This record gives sequence, structure tokens and C-alpha cells, in this order.
Amino acid sequence: MAKEIDLWNPWHGCRKISEGCLNCYVYRIDSSFGKNPEIVEKTKDFFLPLKRNKSGSLKIPPLARVYTCLSSDFFLEDADPWRAQAWQIIKARPDLHFCIITKRIHRFYEKLPADWADGYENVTIISTCENQKRADFRLPILLDAPIKNREITCEPLLENLDIKKYLKTGKIKRVIAGGESGPNARICRHEWVESLRRQCVEANVPFSFKQTGARYFYGGKIYSIPRNKQHSQAAKSGMDFEAE
Ligand code: SF4
Repeated sequence: MAKEIDLWNPWHGCRKISEGCLNCYVYRIDSSFGKNPEIVEKTKDFFLPLKRNKSGSLKIPPLARVYTCLSSDFFLEDADPWRAQAWQIIKARPDLHFCIITKRIHRFYEKLPADWADGYENVTIISTCENQKRADFRLPILLDAPIKNREITCEPLLENLDIKKYLKTGKIKRVIAGGESGPNARICRHEWVESLRRQCVEANVPFSFKQTGARYFYGGKIYSIPRNKQHSQAAKSGMDFEAE
């Protein structure tokens, strides 16, 4: 049975740091409400993984994969005062698996728990690599850091990437690729996705084509894909690869 997927946003708000942030949905959504997306605040859900329903059951059920900090960045400077407590919450739920997507792997060591050792088993750190420049800066840091589970997400994929040498290490458990959504989405080209898939197959690393994005270039044409079809169209392409 597939594991339940949950979200935990212990803080909200962010600051743009790299090319992938240009059309960030946190900025887009906050701005549409007249809210300043750069004001970073703890949310009312800070303790969500520890909370229980009236019936006494945990609000996030055991075995769920918990995507963490999707409306901010877990390693954001503004969140330094809260991160130690967030790590304690993560440690207190070894029955969950926390997936942390970051563009700030260079800040990984800030407020790392004293008992981290070579990593908590229930944490996957997913480094974003939207272009070659960011891949070449972030992936060596990701690979050197004491982490039990490492993944890469190339979203929004902005150009052709060569990540063969990083995949060869055998330390990357999955690569995810996807285009950009939103009204100003940049084009994602099919051959970039194919190339990443090919590199993963060669290195026997699982690959997921998560979503096409809003503007997808395929067979000499740009396709405009509505938000509600971006995941299903990617799934239909049959590009996913599970390692042997
Ligand atoms: S790091 Fe993520 S949440 Fe923060 S501005 Fe960039 S895209 Fe948005």
C-alpha cells in the first residue's frame, strides 16, 4: 500500500536565492493576498507532527512521508532560531519520514542537532538543481554532508544538466525532474528530461518525471499545459524509472 503523504510547514515566507526562485509560488500566492512573502514567521502548525485529534490519534498518522517546509526553505537564515526545535520534533517521530527540499544545502550545518552523527534515518534531504551552475555548487556539498538519504530535484528544470559524476557516487537515491508552473513559466524541453532520465538509467538511480510545467517543448512545438494536467501528462509519458 502506498504511504500517505502529508505536509508540514513549520514556518512560512522566504527569500529568493537562485534562478529557480524567479517565479516562486510562495511569492505569487502571498502577493495575491497583499502579503509580503519575505516576512518569515513560525506557523500555527509548528508542532503539527506531535499533535493529536480529539479522538487521541496523531494528526499525522504513522508511516506517512511528510514534505517539510514547502512554503519556505528549512535552512533559511531567518529560521535559524527555530530549527533546533524543529529537529527535535522530527526526532520525536521516528515513525514518519521527513522529506526536506532545499536550495540552501550550504547552510545544512546551521543548528544541526548534537546527536545527528551520520544522519537521522527518518530524514531525506532533497537538493534542488535547476541549472548546471547550481548543480555543481550544491551537489558536492550534498554528497559530503552526513546524510542517510539524499535525493535531487531538478525543478524547475531550466537547461540541460550533466550530473553523471554525482550519480556515479551511488549516494543519490532518486532524481526528480519537472517544469515550472504559473503564468510566467519558463519552457521545459523534453530533451532535457530525457537526458536526465538517460543518466539515471546508466547509473541505475531511480528517476521520476513529476510534472511537465505549464510550457513544455516537445517535437518542435511548445505545449501550454493547464495546472490540473501537468502531473498526469508527465505520468503518461512513461519516463519514470525504478532501479534494478
Ligand atoms: S527557496 Fe523555494 S520557497 Fe524560497 S524563494 Fe526560492 S523557490 Fe521560493
